[in-house]
Amino acid sequence: MFLSKNTNKYKTDHHGWSEFLPARVSKPSVAGDVRTPWLIIGAGLTGLSAARTLATLNPDDQIILVEAREVGQGASGRNSGYAVKYSQFPGAFDNGLISEYKRVNRINQAGLSLLRTSVLDNDIKCSWHEDGFHHAAADDMSLHECDHYQDYLQGLDIAHTALNHNELSERLGSSVYQRGFHVHDGALLQPAALVRGLVNTLPNNITLYESSPVLKLAYGKNITAQFSSGRVVADNVIIATNYEAPKLGFLRRHVIGSTLSGSFTRVLNTQELDSLGSKRQWGVLSLHGGGATVRLTEDGRICLRNTAEYVGANLLSDQQLHKRQMVHREAFERRFPQLQHVPFEFSWSGVEGISRNGTNFFGQQKQNVFVAGGYNGSGVTRGTAFGSALANLASGGQSELITDCLNTKSATWLPPRPFLDIGAAFTVKSRFKGVGLDR
Ligand SMILES: Cc1cc2nc3c(=O)[nH]c(=O)nc-3n(C[C@H](O)[C@H](O)[C@H](O)COP(=O)(O)OP(=O)(O)OC[C@H]3O[C@@H](n4cnc5c(N)ncnc54)[C@H](O)[C@@H]3O)c2cc1C
Repeated sequence: MFLSKNTNKYKTDHHGWSEFLPARVSKPSVAGDVRTPWLIIGAGLTGLSAARTLATLNPDDQIILVEAREVGQGASGRNSGYAVKYSQFPGAFDNGLISEYKRVNRINQAGLSLLRTSVLDNDIKCSWHEDGFHHAAADDMSLHECDHYQDYLQGLDIAHTALNHNELSERLGSSVYQRGFHVHDGALLQPAALVRGLVNTLPNNITLYESSPVLKLAYGKNITAQFSSGRVVADNVIIATNYEAPKLGFLRRHVIGSTLSGSFTRVLNTQELDSLGSKRQWGVLSLHGGGATVRLTEDGRICLRNTAEYVGANLLSDQQLHKRQMVHREAFERRFPQLQHVPFEFSWSGVEGISRNGTNFFGQQKQNVFVAGGYNGSGVTRGTAFGSALANLASGGQSELITDCLNTKSATWLPPRPFLDIGAAFTVKSRFKGVGLDR
């Protein structure tokens, strides 16, 4: 019998998008012994999507979904809320990679469509706003990316509008951006509200346990998941724990956690909103990989995220967050000098799973154990698609989506500790090379 032991804690804090939502009563923790055909570990977008598909494919089976923290406290409830249909690939457009671009975009598209169906069919109130995003450049390095990105948009026939400096200023109320594009497809959303909505509308044959970290997995005739006050014995296990998969013995030295942070202003008044263009909601992604993501949210706040670092895959402490807030502030005031008097209401951090060569993970890892994760900052749609495809694969299904997910290129190895920590810090830091005004 193989035993993998997990001694790590599953920390959380109360700085995030969940803080905008009303208090909720969380689900109980695992207690005693439970027997189930299906166990899903992790109730982020990957796990929730896997659960939904599994429940549809196996309506007579009971499914157990366990979450280490409270729902909405993982990356799925703490991201910037961009549900992308078309990924941005850095560097020159390469004709030889067209089929790869299309494969990734098909996966994104499947995730976007699954999310749209869940949100609309269940009337999930998550500020779902499907009007695409802006991709813009403020500095020389990103202006280079503009040319590459334009070739990509044209080469793949992606609906977009090219925008010059004046047009961007008019749309966003910021004169920082020199050139950019409005890509017409993609949705903005409130991530914690999405996660909560998905949890509240899970099919009846799914039981969710919160504050229930799996501490160990043991493999024999069945798979036994050990909790602090109980056990779940399962026939099949889906692991949707993102960058925390190594704690359960999977994707070790393949995925690391990069910690990102951002801040929200208070709600802006009508005059302040009028200075930000005519649209009442928009999002800007930088064409520089280390650049800021900026949103005008449905409730009228500016949300700006612009730091990423390696701090051992942990959330930032209050003290660290306070320091990062100054970095957010500088970028905010540079973009919106007319809003210099507007204070931030709060800041948050979150951890995303990244791999050395930017790939994701999908597939069967051992008998009856399936794993997906590590989406390098674009897991809202991709995690949703991977979760659904993984549930289908685990149920013995076949589909074009499964084939696309299985064709994900292999991850390169990360060095062992302590070099891992040095390499991880370097990998994350190198994203900011030449970021300049895009930060
Ligand atoms: C600040 C920030 C901004 C981002 N912005 C975007 C964006 O705009 N668009 C985009 O597409 N992506 C974005 N991302 C990335 C995106 O959030 C992730 O790729 C996605 O949420 C991954 O979903 P997941 O379900 O695989 O993982 P997670 O959301 O991390 O869920 C995994 C869950 O597993 C639980 N878990 C872990 N270990 C155990 C265990 N042993 N037992 C039980 N449960 C366990 C965790 O508590 C967690 O809730 C961003 C990420 C961050 C941090």
